[in-house]
Amino acid sequence: MAETLKTVVHNFNSGPSVLPKEVFEEASRAILDFNNSGLSILEIGHRTTLFQPVMDEARQLAKDLMSLDDDHEVLFLHGGATTQFMQVPMNLLSQNGTASYTETGTWGVKAIKEARLFGNVHIAGTTKENNFTSIPDKLDIDPSSVYLHITTNETIAGTQWHHIPYDCGVPLVADMSSDILSRQIDFNRFALLYAGAQKNMGAAGVNLVVVDKNILGRSGRTIPTILDYQVHIKEGSMLNTPPVFAVYVVLLTLRWLKKNGGIAAMEKLNQEKASLLYGTLDSLPLFNTPVAKKDRSLMNAVFTIDDPQIEKEFLELCKQEGMIGVKGHRSVGGFRVSMYNALSIESVRAITDLMKDFANRKL
Ligand SMILES: *Cc1c(COP(=O)(O)O)cnc(C)c1O
Repeated sequence: MAETLKTVVHNFNSGPSVLPKEVFEEASRAILDFNNSGLSILEIGHRTTLFQPVMDEARQLAKDLMSLDDDHEVLFLHGGATTQFMQVPMNLLSQNGTASYTETGTWGVKAIKEARLFGNVHIAGTTKENNFTSIPDKLDIDPSSVYLHITTNETIAGTQWHHIPYDCGVPLVADMSSDILSRQIDFNRFALLYAGAQKNMGAAGVNLVVVDKNILGRSGRTIPTILDYQVHIKEGSMLNTPPVFAVYVVLLTLRWLKKNGGIAAMEKLNQEKASLLYGTLDSLPLFNTPVAKKDRSLMNAVFTIDDPQIEKEFLELCKQEGMIGVKGHRSVGGFRVSMYNALSIESVRAITDLMKDFANRKL
């Protein structure tokens, strides 16, 4: 039996997640006929005059939107952020060297596990003791570290670094998978940053990597060709067949972002959305918010209801009303509402109206 689907869907998925409708439309057209070539984007060679401009424009647009200087190279590489968990230490950390890591949730824990395969890891700050419901107030960085790694936004725990430790004294490296291009950051002050595209920037299958080329080539290790950033820079992200379609979707999303005012405009809208959502949660005693207020993520809001029966009821109601992806991550429970760039404020208004209505009925 076909279920009756609500025609209006509000997509709060944590990733892969909502993208602008015009990106879906244009990407669909490109599958049928790319730039009036009579060919699908899925059947063109990557080293052609059809695709090369896609890669070039995507790299240039990323550079422009992030105001990167000439030391910083933009790469589009295969795989998700999980690949970067090992590729970063493989390229930067020598066997006897040390890297400092912050442990602020599931993603940080995974990054640390991989780094330990390549060198020494010093934990510079952790909030494990409070179930990752805050960002460390102080850092204890090993001054000999080749870098400090942070996760700017912990997608599962719902925390975000609002004060980036730019002055930590060692090169800064960040996993920005879930808040890339969502707020103004001084990207040039990072030695390396990476982000899987599928949260805020495009389709799954491609990573954005921004790297200061001056930090490369010092690990003393022979790096497999496909994992060597220096080779990718030299080859302009075209060492082998790139994930052609995923790069194209990133390009369309970057164009949309530029047309809509760039990162500054996104940040303003993201602040409005988050303050509407958190303001509503704070006004309704039915809902609990575990994360420390100062460290709340503008991208992923995590909340719970004490009574599991009522929690189930609210989830069911969300489903009926076309609210997708609000169930919390299995490791945290409760609810999670993700508010990436392409999520409209109308969607946030729809779920906050539902929360108020539901809470009033439960009084
Ligand atoms: C989703 C996510 C990852 C993992 O990304 P994959 O593309 O699945 O490897 C890593 N870090 C953060 C912060 C994420 O949100």
